[in-house]
Amino acid sequence: MALGNWADVAFDLEGKPRAGVFRAPTGVRIEIYKNWVYVKRGGSVIMETASCDLNVRMVDACSTTRLVASRTDGVLFVAVLHADYSAAGQPTAFSGMVGLGCYGYEGDEWVGVREQQLEGLTAFVPVVEAAAKPKRVAVVPAVASARAWEAATDERRSEADAALEVARRRHAEARQALADMRKVRGLVRVDGDAPALTGATAGKPWSRDYPACRHCGTTERAHGGRGLCGRDYQRWMKGAIEGDY
Ligand SMILES: [Zn+2]
Repeated sequence: MALGNWADVAFDLEGKPRAGVFRAPTGVRIEIYKNWVYVKRGGSVIMETASCDLNVRMVDACSTTRLVASRTDGVLFVAVLHADYSAAGQPTAFSGMVGLGCYGYEGDEWVGVREQQLEGLTAFVPVVEAAAKPKRVAVVPAVASARAWEAATDERRSEADAALEVARRRHAEARQALADMRKVRGLVRVDGDAPALTGATAGKPWSRDYPACRHCGTTERAHGGRGLCGRDYQRWMKGAIEGDY
């Protein structure tokens, strides 16, 4: 909605010109007003960008509508993307707008939205397809913005998946390392200061008199004493294991 001395232009996600007002099904209404944005709900302004000179990002209460606004040299650039989601949480449909609001006069002359500003809009849209220099307003690659958003989201999702995969692998490796360490520790019997490999896998019987721990049956821990593995021998000494060992 151009107001007095102000000009604006907006496109839908297909790149077709549209009014600079977006109504999300959630009831949020995002409106280009002069060179700022109103975000309204039920007629009340819940946010306005008049006093924000830097990037503004806003997500509505349902997290389904995103607004990005940026002001450069007095020109406000706006992108709004709304996604409808399936019950499974998958985005099923997108709608939105990309647009700008600016002062429409140059000196005494009404010039409206200038080519340069449209190019600014193109630059504002996250990914500019190489050949997409706008000659006419309708070719401002608003569709690219939706795709870029999607791609960025997908990328982030696959980054997260990759990170999770790495974490899983590390976890599995750590578990394996821990198991190996336990095994090795089981083979090492510490007599005073001199650790020595012992145990079944060293080709010797587990202990002189017993094939395995009398309490837990392991051969993976070294013999501690009285036919018990080191762990159980310690426990027995502390009285934590009952039994005639
Ligand atoms: Zn044992």
